[in-house]
Amino acid sequence: MHEFMVPTQSRTEMVDITAEVNRAIRAAGVTEGLCHVFVPHTTAGITINENADPDVARDILTTLDRLVPRAGDYRHSEGNSDAHVKASLMGSSVTAPIAAGRLSLGTWQAIYLCEFDGPRHRRCLVVTT
Ligand code: ZN
Repeated sequence: MHEFMVPTQSRTEMVDITAEVNRAIRAAGVTEGLCHVFVPHTTAGITINENADPDVARDILTTLDRLVPRAGDYRHSEGNSDAHVKASLMGSSVTAPIAAGRLSLGTWQAIYLCEFDGPRHRRCLVVTT
């Protein structure tokens, strides 16, 4: 297993971590198989989506803000219930195929760490099989 840290800069943000995941695959020496990326946090998630047009990530974040407003009928005392809900909507892990020693993603795909309660330092765990 390989681990790396992602520093986030704002409360909500999508950070492209594809290059770091590819580095982890190289370090593992795996040429074919599966790559699992897990985010061990309750207010951050992970997803695969478009990296060509940065407006796509912006639209995902603004849509999540509209669906899950920061203030609402929440009981959780930390005041970050929206972040917990958004993290569950995105999920805690993604799996992608490895071919020729790197992620075999679609042309426009990238792996994003989704920050919902930053800025913080987030851990990412990479397991190859
Ligand atoms: Zn909380």
